[in-house]
Amino acid sequence: KNKAGDFDPSSVACWGKGERVPFMLLCLVFDMISNESGRIVITDIVCNMLRTVMDTTPDDLVPIVYLSANRIAPAHEGLELGIGDASIIKALAEACGRTEVQVKKQYKELGDLGLVAKASRSSQSMMRKPDALTVTKVFNTFQLIAKESGKDSQEKKKNHIKGLLVAATDCEPQYLIRLLQTKLRIGLAEQTLLAALGQAAVYTEKHSTPPPNIQSPLEEAVKIVKQAYSLLPVYDKIVPALLSGGVWNLPKTCNFTPGVPVGPMLAKPTKGVKEIVLKFQDIEFTSEYKYDGERAQIHYMDNGSVEIYSRNAERNTGKFPDVVLAVSRLKKSSVRSFVLDCELVAYDREKQKILPFQILSTRARKNVAVNDIKVDVCIYAFDMLYLNGQPLLEEELKVRREHLYGSFDEEHGYFHFATTITSNDLEEIQKFLDNAVDSSCEGLIIKTLTKDATYEPAKRSLNWLKLKKDYMDNLGDSLDLVPIAAFHGRGKRTGTGFSEAVLEERSASLRSKVIPKPKVWEVKAADLTISPVHHAAIGIVDPDKGISLRFPRLVRVREDKNPEQSSSSEQVAEMYTSQKHNHPNNQDDDEDD
Ligand code: ATP
Repeated sequence: KNKAGDFDPSSVACWGKGERVPFMLLCLVFDMISNESGRIVITDIVCNMLRTVMDTTPDDLVPIVYLSANRIAPAHEGLELGIGDASIIKALAEACGRTEVQVKKQYKELGDLGLVAKASRSSQSMMRKPDALTVTKVFNTFQLIAKESGKDSQEKKKNHIKGLLVAATDCEPQYLIRLLQTKLRIGLAEQTLLAALGQAAVYTEKHSTPPPNIQSPLEEAVKIVKQAYSLLPVYDKIVPALLSGGVWNLPKTCNFTPGVPVGPMLAKPTKGVKEIVLKFQDIEFTSEYKYDGERAQIHYMDNGSVEIYSRNAERNTGKFPDVVLAVSRLKKSSVRSFVLDCELVAYDREKQKILPFQILSTRARKNVAVNDIKVDVCIYAFDMLYLNGQPLLEEELKVRREHLYGSFDEEHGYFHFATTITSNDLEEIQKFLDNAVDSSCEGLIIKTLTKDATYEPAKRSLNWLKLKKDYMDNLGDSLDLVPIAAFHGRGKRTGTGFSEAVLEERSASLRSKVIPKPKVWEVKAADLTISPVHHAAIGIVDPDKGISLRFPRLVRVREDKNPEQSSSSEQVAEMYTSQKHNHPNNQDDDEDD
């Protein structure tokens, strides 16, 4: 038993052992979660649902986990539903015998197509009751929707949606629509789902008892599942391994695999060389140039095929055919497979110099032909995660680096190892930082070399610290923010730093009320202040007040980040508390932000 109590499936949806799990189960669980705010209770609710499925119909565990994560495939496969509100509105109207105008009108009133769907269904009477939806039916249909392509694809997608809606009852239409929009909004984070999966595995463990030295099997299982997912973010691999080999064997059955990108290891901000030397007092560390380009994870498989992934696990291979050629040419002949962590930087080969990030962002995104490339890139390699069949993530950086240096030939303007020094001398590092900036780099990344120096996928680690020259005097870093609303400006703004044309472009891009895809903006600020008006990080540094930015300035649109990767409340609070001149009573009432 856990805090959410035992889950009694018969009270919500009925199915027998081995029968397909009803979609209604998932929807009722979503409903329960949307009424909870505590992470522990939510974990328990999800855990109970997964336990029940493991006990009755384990074959349905993969689709139920995918739907709970509001995904249809692993991120790197790039499979997307590809439907807009227009198709959903059409499907809704047709399925419920309403006009599109009615649906749109109600959408305006309720602000949520899921609620419109719920209201539409309940006003319908059915001649013949269609078969109840199952989790597999919904999941398989979602995959079909994603795979439809070609000229009639929108029509076909709409018909699939209609088919599902016709069979949906009670709260099912609401969650169907939200899942289709990938806007579940019930407060179920993927890390919570992973924790629930780990706990459910312990409760239903049939394969083995926990190793004898384990104090708290639930906690340990959660750690194991989270770690396995960070190394192999593929539910189709993790879930079957969990079911057949058990949770304690997961570290053996699920490991880093070339062809499946891991989330990149990230750095924490710092504000000065002194702080770094203090933090890493008795630890061996190294300083590297921090190049300003695009993070890339390059996978070279045994069969000679190459894939390049962005920091979001998006497949970028078609954008960088020149990089594919360069790594294939410059790897040593002893190297049969590798995974490289690096920065791709715009480069002028004639003048032999690094070009700013803005130039890189002008490169075409898809199906680039080598002969059409106008902006050359140079690979700056700084880490090696896999070599000739062996994952290297558990090795210390010193060892990973030796493998890196031994696996490639450098070639000017095409492939370099990140410039580095190993020194704990304050002045030397300061000088190195100046050199980095003179060489068109943003600053330094400081990394532990031996102790606590494994590669931590998808983690913002204290073992990597970033030192950005631009931010040293104030915040230490810029913020990545998602614009959610805008005020219409009044009067003419002069001297804002934006030209009229830029203002018009920004304003036009915000004018439409519906944002098809939220954007992440990188924003610089003079400092952070406590604000009674703004809600960022509310409740962390002050129980009732949030944090606002003083003199915010837009640096760039971060195409490579999704909203989940924008600065978190904790990061904003950490930046606030680490400001040099921090006045707790520093109230900001101006409306400039
Ligand atoms: P974050 O999510 O950490 O804020 P970001 O993409 O906004 O990341 P920065 O904060 O500027 O970027 O710094 C981290 C990034 O710096 C890395 O993700 C990587 O792309 C880049 N980078 C450049 N040089 C190096 C290096 N030598 N080692 C590690 N990362 C490097």
